[in-house]
Amino acid sequence: MNHLSNASTTTKDPPSISGSTEICAIIGDPIAHTLSPAVHNAAFRSLKMDLVYVPFRVRRNELGMAIEGFRSIGVIGINVTMPHKSRVLRFLDRIDDTAREIGAVNTVARKSTRLHGYNTDGKAAVTALSHLGSLSGRKALILGAGGAAKAIAYQLSETADSIVILNRTRSNGARLASKITKWNGIPSHSYVLSGTNLRREARRGNLLINTLPAHVFPRFGEILIEEKIAEGDMLVMDANYELKNDFLTEARNSGAKAIDGLEMLIEQASLSFKLWTGVDAPIDVMRKAAAEARAIR
Ligand code: NDP
Repeated sequence: MNHLSNASTTTKDPPSISGSTEICAIIGDPIAHTLSPAVHNAAFRSLKMDLVYVPFRVRRNELGMAIEGFRSIGVIGINVTMPHKSRVLRFLDRIDDTAREIGAVNTVARKSTRLHGYNTDGKAAVTALSHLGSLSGRKALILGAGGAAKAIAYQLSETADSIVILNRTRSNGARLASKITKWNGIPSHSYVLSGTNLRREARRGNLLINTLPAHVFPRFGEILIEEKIAEGDMLVMDANYELKNDFLTEARNSGAKAIDGLEMLIEQASLSFKLWTGVDAPIDVMRKAAAEARAIR
């Protein structure tokens, strides 16, 4: 498939759409906040590809119809975000082993007429974190047990020494902890998300990953700041990418290495890009576009 366009453009130009332009999409609800269109369209333009990336708000009960619509119009790739990552599996033709284990798909790629589902969130998070330091033998603490936590835990279980899960709903945390041990045989425990459990478990770990939503995390972030948890050789990541994050700022000021979720988003976008186009993503272009789009939203 030839995705190259003859148009002369810069990464800032609006997409040039012709009769031959092919479509990639992102679906979720809500979707207006997404940075992914800025990231992918900048990448397509920089490589002069005749592709455009469009966000679609798809309500929970319309997911099947949306996927069939994309199938019939020949969309070449779809990113899937909340709340569809788990339910979308039933509408696809083939699920990659990683996505099946995690039980969630964040990337769909069309292969001929079939739709294949993948999960690139875990690999993206681990790649982003490994820029901070080695993950080998780390005692990890993950806040949350939803789609992002599962994907990250799956990938991290290959190198970490142990993984503890703190989650609001006890059964969801317990299910993830037992899966982690099944995946790679490492010890994993779960506890209810509470200040007491957070204080105790955060002190025992040296890798802390937050996957609680951005409006939930700050009250737990405050506890971590009060306790001076993030210091020394601690690595920290918040999967969210709000511009203001007091905990990450404090962690960096105290000597820990800390990142927000922007780099995870970029790594995830670059893996999707490769699955759809077969071409290595221009990751620096994507990084710049993501930072610019975040700054103005
Ligand atoms: P899910 O809905 O799958 O999981 C949400 C998690 O947060 C669950 O563990 C849930 O606990 C917990 N939670 C939700 N509300 C509350 C609350 N009020 N109090 C305590 N816990 C709560 O979402 P995802 O895992 O897909 O996403 C989580 C976050 O990570 C989102 O903010 C998302 O934007 C971000 N993310 C970032 C990515 C990136 O590329 N940077 C990629 C993917 C996600 P319970 O089990 O009790 O429901």
